[in-house]
Amino acid sequence: MKIDLMEILACPICKNEELKLIIIEKDKEEVETGLITCNKCSRYYPIKKTIPIMLPDDLRDMEEDRKFLLSHKEKIPDEVLKNGKPVSL
Ligand SMILES: [Zn+2]
Repeated sequence: MKIDLMEILACPICKNEELKLIIIEKDKEEVETGLITCNKCSRYYPIKKTIPIMLPDDLRDMEEDRKFLLSHKEKIPDEVLKNGKPVSL
């Protein structure tokens, strides 16, 4: 995902447009792995293999999301690990 994309993304749940990007791995201009977080509704959305996955709760795989948090927990803020929605550690 190109960082510029952040300017046009909005949270699919609460429509907040001021989302935060947490970069876990970066390759030149593309974010390879990361998280997009919404501080309005506490949701987070993973970026996997450069693709931001911004799905509503009912289409998410909660077990996959939990594993994602676990495997990158040293680079994810505590707030997201403990209080992130739809699933936290
Ligand atoms: Zn939101």
